Amino acid sequence: TDLSRIRNFSIIAHIDHGKSTLADRLIEFCGAIEAREMKAQLLDNMDIERERGITIKAQTVRLNYKAKDGEIYQLNLMDTPGHVDFAYEVSRSLAACEGSILVVDASQGVEAQTLANVYQAIDANHEIVPVLNKIDLPAADVPRVKQQIEDVIGLDASDAVEVSAKSGINIDGVLEAIVTRLPPPKGDAAAPLQALIVDSWYDAYLGVVVLVRVVNGELRTGQKVRFMATGATRELDRVGIFGPKKMLVDRLGPGEMGFVTAAIKDIRDTKVGDTITEERRLAATPLPGFKPSIPVVFCGLFPTDAADFEDLRESLGKLALNDASFQFEMESSAALGFGFRCGFLGLLHLEIIQERLEREFNLDLITTAPSVVYRMHMNDGTMKEMHNPADMPDPVKIDRIEEPWIKANIMLPDEYLGGVLQLCTERRGIQKDLTYVGGRAMLVYELPLNEVVFDFYDRLKSISRGYASFDYVLEGYREGDLVKMSILVNNEPVDALAMIVHRTQAEYRGRQLCERLKDLIPRHLFKIPIQAAIGGRVIARETIAALRKDVLAKCYGGDISRKRKLLDKQKEGKKRMRQFGEVEIPQSAFIAALRMG
Ligand code: GDP
Ligand code: MG
Repeated sequence: TDLSRIRNFSIIAHIDHGKSTLADRLIEFCGAIEAREMKAQLLDNMDIERERGITIKAQTVRLNYKAKDGEIYQLNLMDTPGHVDFAYEVSRSLAACEGSILVVDASQGVEAQTLANVYQAIDANHEIVPVLNKIDLPAADVPRVKQQIEDVIGLDASDAVEVSAKSGINIDGVLEAIVTRLPPPKGDAAAPLQALIVDSWYDAYLGVVVLVRVVNGELRTGQKVRFMATGATRELDRVGIFGPKKMLVDRLGPGEMGFVTAAIKDIRDTKVGDTITEERRLAATPLPGFKPSIPVVFCGLFPTDAADFEDLRESLGKLALNDASFQFEMESSAALGFGFRCGFLGLLHLEIIQERLEREFNLDLITTAPSVVYRMHMNDGTMKEMHNPADMPDPVKIDRIEEPWIKANIMLPDEYLGGVLQLCTERRGIQKDLTYVGGRAMLVYELPLNEVVFDFYDRLKSISRGYASFDYVLEGYREGDLVKMSILVNNEPVDALAMIVHRTQAEYRGRQLCERLKDLIPRHLFKIPIQAAIGGRVIARETIAALRKDVLAKCYGGDISRKRKLLDKQKEGKKRMRQFGEVEIPQSAFIAALRMG
């Protein structure tokens, strides 16, 4: 295809502003042309049958649009994930395109993720077309939101496209803007092959599927290619596109996007950001690639029932096949037995994986407190990264500890400002900026990530009655006065409850945790002290009173069958308990105790 007839673009938006709805409308609008004028070869019927019911991870869709100038354009729509946790993935999707459609809800205006996405698109040198969506709503205020886009983002909004994705108003206006206002890709079909790996995933029928953007040269079925990072060579057995159904094509040329398969067994052979070149005619250099997605939040996942350990291992392995940013390794805990230490891009990522394990793989799990990655600078000059508070070295050997900080953008209605400022201050935040745009406050704060992972987002939402939006980027590491707080139950430390806290927060968090545990651990025959300690120093303490003897005496009286029932019941209850020394701690306590409020 002539490069001047190709446009590669992403749709970026704050959540709920209408990205998916608009994408559907664009696909629908172009669908008619597809059937008539596109020469494509469908995968055989067998495969389509097999694929039914399987969610295809089609992150790119090729559309054929007949523009007002009479020409047919190939539009490649690249999907982007919509949450702050996946900012890295957004940047790599954007790297495969030349332009972005910025969707802003005309009844809501610019939100935190609108900004975060725009900054990334600007970083990727994108041409950006603003689209005001939901103009069918009575609350839509087009002039105000245009002004906002100019004031807050600094984009010219005078020719923003006004649409209603839901009612299908002015969809062709968006398509015309894509063709006339976004630049075509550049590339050389005669040059040695350079194709960027944008994503890869495992498909039960096709094996590893590799999503690519060709920059120079051509990809063809039967071609022998080399993956430049690993040096692995393969023969391509399929070259295709999503239209949005999978379709095979003869070739992919410069500027085009699509997928290839090559009997690849291990997804790790296809590194996202790597360059594919031709074995016969190697490219001199790989393409620039991307920053890798690095896990920033770690927690332990343990099976409630120890017998599920192998199932858990297998399930984690399956999830990791399609999610290169998810990591796990085996871990053992005195309190929880064998499990896995897992790394995530953020809390939402953690929740998604946990939910999938419970729903799709039918596993009952205990999650330990999420922790960020600390850098321990030791007295001997070495540096260790710590993913688990249980691994904290002896404090006398540590010179200093550094923790990750973020830069957060928070946008909210003015009336909630006081509460949000207080929250940020409590979480050791440093205010960098406060501006007002059309009745909304825009706050920029630097915050330690460790203060955000627990419940910052929940608190922000509740303080602002759901009206605040939040987005962040990692800034870097800074030294902090950090200590390990241990929790002792009946004088024994429980490793799964240990956490790293800032010294100024230790007493408050310690007291809160002890109070929680007091309510969560049932009474025993003896008194149980619960303590929070830093090193050998106790900073908070609660006591669970002993059960009274006469209550028990009553329980154990009566006839034999009643006694048996009681014993059975106790046994059942036991499954949900963890024996710790002489104390039984219910599983629910581990999560509930850590939900700070
Ligand atoms: P996304 O999170 O950006 O992908 O947003 P969705 O496309 O899922 O849309 C969020 C909600 O807004 C859904 O309930 C849509 O039906 C609704 N929506 C999207 N576009 C319009 C529109 O043009 N007008 C109205 N009234 N609602 C819309
Ligand atoms: Mg959506």
